[in-house]
Amino acid sequence: MIRKAFKHFFLVLRHKRAVFIHCAKCGIPFRGLVHDLSKFSPTEFFESIKYYHGARSPLAVCREQKGMSMAWLHHKGRNRHHLEYWVDEDCKIPPLVPYKFAVECVCDKLAATKIYRGKDYKPEMALAHFLRYGNKVHTNERSLAFIERVFTDLCELGEDAVLNKKYMKKTYAAVCLGATEERKDENEAVG
Ligand SMILES: [Zn+2]
Repeated sequence: MIRKAFKHFFLVLRHKRAVFIHCAKCGIPFRGLVHDLSKFSPTEFFESIKYYHGARSPLAVCREQKGMSMAWLHHKGRNRHHLEYWVDEDCKIPPLVPYKFAVECVCDKLAATKIYRGKDYKPEMALAHFLRYGNKVHTNERSLAFIERVFTDLCELGEDAVLNKKYMKKTYAAVCLGATEERKDENEAVG
């Protein structure tokens, strides 16, 4: 139990470190700093050590064995970087994930893929995982399209071209806010 507690604790720290590095590159270091702090709450921490796995999320293991995960319900309701936080079945159009949380979401998913896959990690894995599971969430379609676009570009253009403020701002504006290239050109012509 104690060994699992330490292993889980250091896994969370490793994850937080990777998310922080990604977030800092994208210009949102504060989001990186406060990322996933609720994992240290009793509800999340104790379930995670009980179902500790190392290569998979303990919450997924718990869900399989118990049929549900209290830690996940606790986590998704408090962490705005999760698409599930923004699910509201009673809205005609689910709320759009705001810029900083959409970027934090990308940083989180990428860090999780890197840490769980270890040295086998390839950028295609983040996209594949998102297409298989992530985009099944009943959230705003533009938010889903944003993440898919970022992970697609990550495969094609590489990490340096994608993990930066300029790319994120431009892509969020284009995909989520509907800013078009023409409008950008107009602005440039005026400015
Ligand atoms: Zn999280």
